Amino acid sequence: MYFIANWKMFGGLNSLNTIDKVVKFFKAFKKNRSIKIIYCPPSTLISLMSKKLEKTNIEIGAQNCHEQESYGAFTGSINSKMLKNIGANYVIIGHSENRQSGESNQLINLKIKSALKSGLKVIFCIGETLREKRKKITKKILDKQLKLGLNKVNSKKNIIIAYEPVWSIGTGLIPKSDDLYETVNFIKKKMRKNKVLYGGSVNPKNINDLKSINNIDGYLIGGASQDPKKFIDIIKKRYS
Ligand code: PEP
Repeated sequence: MYFIANWKMFGGLNSLNTIDKVVKFFKAFKKNRSIKIIYCPPSTLISLMSKKLEKTNIEIGAQNCHEQESYGAFTGSINSKMLKNIGANYVIIGHSENRQSGESNQLINLKIKSALKSGLKVIFCIGETLREKRKKITKKILDKQLKLGLNKVNSKKNIIIAYEPVWSIGTGLIPKSDDLYETVNFIKKKMRKNKVLYGGSVNPKNINDLKSINNIDGYLIGGASQDPKKFIDIIKKRYS
């Protein structure tokens, strides 16, 4: 079961201390449980956070990467090799906040390939917008995102799918349980060997409903993951 914390563009040096509580909690809680916690802080904190988490069982991911695996003249960009070099083991690719600012399925595909080549595991985000949901084309959209995003990706072993309906990210809304079960099932039929996570407004209240949906392999958590108490609560309640 995965619990992935996406800090988005939040956090400075003083935020690093907030993970101490989570480290302490997880050390005891993990025993005999198959749980993975992955922190995805902004790139500015990856290096320090990875040093801090060195002797713990918590891993680190980045939130995006450039599509070119080698160095190049791309001012302001960071590639997968550089992320790996400073301690990241995972990278989120295809997050809807980046799709909304212009990332196409084709660009996402290049990013996924570059990340895998650099030895990063990919947290590949897919999801429909509210308009697409209303038009009842969710499956068609997910199918397209999966097909184009994973085009010519030979080994899918190091890919985790995060199903994140765009309309549920940061809104407090989550899909109806039956709908979510069905959508995750649809993705799993296409990606038989991959873990499928849910993301979108996961919080300590709705985790009780979400945990009853038994085909979900974990959660990608944005807002609530920045508060260690909420993040711990989500994990505890998932198992209560
Ligand atoms: C996310 O950023 O991937 C996310 C799911 O955000 P939130 O939990 O805040 O909706």
